[in-house]
Amino acid sequence: MTIALQGICASKGVAIGHIYIVDRGQLDVNEYLLAAKDVDAEVARFLDAVGIARNDLRAVRERIPADTSADIAAFIDTHLLMLEDSALTKAPIQLICARRCNAEWALKLQRDALVSVFEEMDDPYLRTRKDDVEHVVARIQRILLRQDKLYHEKPDSRLAGQVVLADDLTPADTVLLLHQGIAGFITEYGGPTSHTAILGRSLGIPAVVGLHQARLYLRSGDMVVVDGRAGAVLVDPDEHTLQHYRDRQQHIKDQHALRDKLRGAPTRTLDGTDIVLQANIELPEDVDTVLDVSADGVGLYRTEFLFMNRDEMPGEEEQYQTYRNVVEALGGAPVTLRTLDMGADKTIDGGRYGSSWCSNPALGLRAVRLCLSEPALFRPQLRAILRASQHGPVRLLVPMLSNTEEVGQVLQLLAECRRELQRDGHAFDAGMPVGAMVEVPAAALCADLFARQLDFLSIGTNDLIQYTIATDRVDDEVNYLYDPLHPAVLRLIKMTIKAGESAGVSVSMCGEMAGNARYTRLLLGMGLREFSVPPNTLLEIKQVINSSDAAALGRMAQRVLRAGDWSKRAAALDRLNSGGG
Ligand code: PEP
Ligand code: MG
Repeated sequence: MTIALQGICASKGVAIGHIYIVDRGQLDVNEYLLAAKDVDAEVARFLDAVGIARNDLRAVRERIPADTSADIAAFIDTHLLMLEDSALTKAPIQLICARRCNAEWALKLQRDALVSVFEEMDDPYLRTRKDDVEHVVARIQRILLRQDKLYHEKPDSRLAGQVVLADDLTPADTVLLLHQGIAGFITEYGGPTSHTAILGRSLGIPAVVGLHQARLYLRSGDMVVVDGRAGAVLVDPDEHTLQHYRDRQQHIKDQHALRDKLRGAPTRTLDGTDIVLQANIELPEDVDTVLDVSADGVGLYRTEFLFMNRDEMPGEEEQYQTYRNVVEALGGAPVTLRTLDMGADKTIDGGRYGSSWCSNPALGLRAVRLCLSEPALFRPQLRAILRASQHGPVRLLVPMLSNTEEVGQVLQLLAECRRELQRDGHAFDAGMPVGAMVEVPAAALCADLFARQLDFLSIGTNDLIQYTIATDRVDDEVNYLYDPLHPAVLRLIKMTIKAGESAGVSVSMCGEMAGNARYTRLLLGMGLREFSVPPNTLLEIKQVINSSDAAALGRMAQRVLRAGDWSKRAAALDRLNSGGG
């Protein structure tokens, strides 16, 4: 009999295969007292282990396929940086010397101390960073204990085509497992925004996470279907079910082949409406994927990533060079540089910037609020962006604006920066468009006022949904409320699009909703004509746009907007997507 287990969708797609259980094994670490004469040797043993851990991780990094997105390497880099950090390299040495204890134990004490700091953090995203500490410490301890490397760090042809089941996977595990040709993976822990889930999506491996106690129900060798889209695992599927999923796999394959042909083709609806389809990037290296899918430029460059994982903030010159490289690499396509969006779940400089200690970080000193309160941080970025604008079409986008006074302050600062640059003999595009992220309900409700002051608007649904429904975007416990189809969210989106139309100001959407093909037709029906999406979803979105009739969708979109409860909205959306009237 087929049993269905429900977890959380981490990465779409279908995997069919046998279960291969990865037992990451608990490490048995005990304390023992060293003779005073052995302390130096123990410190040397510890440093050796850290060196080996670093080399192993560098080897993993080199094995990341060249065409994978830069954020994957960034996850491994975070672990490498931790292996350089004094909290993990120096503090254990002090413990070894002070307590005369063995290195494994010193690491355990240090890990417990670090983990308890993370656990006390209010921010759920930061709380999950304790996993990184645990992963890195376990890597060094395993070397100290001379435990064999995890089996999947060695080439193992038996893994090809299997569905890996584990309690949890580190980013390094995930990269290595992909290298072994696994078909999909299931983890007992983790939510949709955990690192493992993000990696699964970037690497295109079907994955289900958060399937609690899966190892109670599944045995090695069990035949399963991983339905990534539904977040479900079907155990021991009958022939009929298997055939259904094989057909779906074939369909997905055919779709990918069709999408490949869309590279370079215009993005135009069946009734001839041209659509702007741009890409979102986090790091300059992502530009390659943007070019690969022939996007109409970058609709959102999250510049805060340049400020993360470092002690010193990048100065004007470094920022200018970085932005300039991106602008030049895009070869004349527009680049929308979003100013620093720090605070809430994104902190920099050990938390000095970003209000992780305040009671409501998401409602606190974040993004433009932080920038306006720290001109020493904001001015160099504005100057760098202005200077980059001499090398190609640049647009400046300001996050989290909530009132027109903030818009006025940003415009005034920009005017001052222009004057300074002119005085200092720096070139820039005097007409560089300036736009607002519409991601706070107040901004959507006042979009008409914003449109009078600015050149364009970009809807950030990730935050707009969280602030409209008052549901934390990274808190699994309230995730069920996070609904892009909530009538309040749809009305605010509609209002913003209308305000842009009336003022003759372009309106784009750069939140995740724009990159989810389920909503593409609805958004077209609501009048959206500019999308900015993660590069790996761009061709899928283009395919939906190019097979849609924009004029006919208007009426059907109205039905979704009018539907009161969730099931009626979902049904209306399904009808719209299947082309029914
Ligand atoms: C958004 O809020 O929709 C957005 C695009 O910005 P971020 O996800 O970086 O907050
Ligand atoms: Mg946002």
